[in-house]
Amino acid sequence: KKRVFSGIQPTNNIHLGNYLGAIRNWVETQDQYDNVFCIVDLHAITLPIDPKDLHNNTRKLAALYLACGLDAAHCKVFVQSHVHQHAELSWILNCFTPMGWLNRMTQFKTKAGDDMETVSAGLYCYPVLMAGDILLYQTDLVPVGDDQRQHVELTRDLAQRFNSLYNKPVFTIPKADIRAAGARVMSLEDPTKKMSKSDPNPNAYITLLDDPKTIKKKIGRATTDSERLVTFDPARPGITNLLTIYQALTGQSNQEIEADFAGKGYGDFKAALTERLVETLSPIQQRYHELINDMPTLEAILKQGADEVRPMAEHTVQEVKKAIGLG
Ligand code: ATP
Ligand code: MG
Repeated sequence: KKRVFSGIQPTNNIHLGNYLGAIRNWVETQDQYDNVFCIVDLHAITLPIDPKDLHNNTRKLAALYLACGLDAAHCKVFVQSHVHQHAELSWILNCFTPMGWLNRMTQFKTKAGDDMETVSAGLYCYPVLMAGDILLYQTDLVPVGDDQRQHVELTRDLAQRFNSLYNKPVFTIPKADIRAAGARVMSLEDPTKKMSKSDPNPNAYITLLDDPKTIKKKIGRATTDSERLVTFDPARPGITNLLTIYQALTGQSNQEIEADFAGKGYGDFKAALTERLVETLSPIQQRYHELINDMPTLEAILKQGADEVRPMAEHTVQEVKKAIGLG
């Protein structure tokens, strides 16, 4: 079976983009693959975060993974910092990563903004930590949203560079697995930006734990335009984003959706979208509450996941060290 690896940072609230771009795809194909799903808490400290929040978010995210349908029988679910090999490989790979490659990473530019004086070196090296996460498990496929395409590309380049430098297939060369539907969900406030957990405005995203009233309110105030035609149109990114979400939830084609809403206005469409969202998220929320109220079981699943992946990670680190001449 092919190996799949992916992860999400335990920062803020997990949103619809994380679900449609990542988690839902992991769930859909979990029985075809050998899956490793990580809660990437080492990535979460690249920007300031309160210790209590980090601890709680980590558990909440684990519960959400399972509530969304990941099955511990098919997947190894664990916390990144529980497996120290992630930090170890990351340092080694840093020494093989040209600064020029990192300078071209657009996520760093977006997240750092103009703050070069105080932003952490960790944020700059984020893509190398991510490359290590993927390469530790000899991963074939990395199911992520479209925003991570560049980081997976860097991972491939780095693996190829390392293998050819030592003339040895130390790393499997991974491939990004980016599905057409839901790969780039946009902000509800500013549909030219992607929906992000780190957005300071909670109205910009739907979280997986939003109640029906909140969903209705957020969709109601989502940015559209004054044309009032329910059609896919790149010139009108607001309505197009909402339609794309609707499409990802229903699996219908553009034409079917446009036909269903022909002659109807934004109000009708937003009501239908709200209904679909509530329908999708309610069962997830119900399972989530059961899981989060049984902390010992959740902790046991995470411990078991870490215990299962650690030998794979250690094996790769040993191969890497041998190639380099370390140890
Ligand atoms: P942050 O703002 O803290 O970076 P994020 O929303 O980008 O948060 P991540 O933890 O960085 O979330 O990413 C987790 C996964 O969700 C990745 O696979 C990423 O590609 C995917 N993802 C993030 N945002 C979106 C989005 N708007 N649409 C589709 N997929 C997304
Ligand atoms: Mg992100």
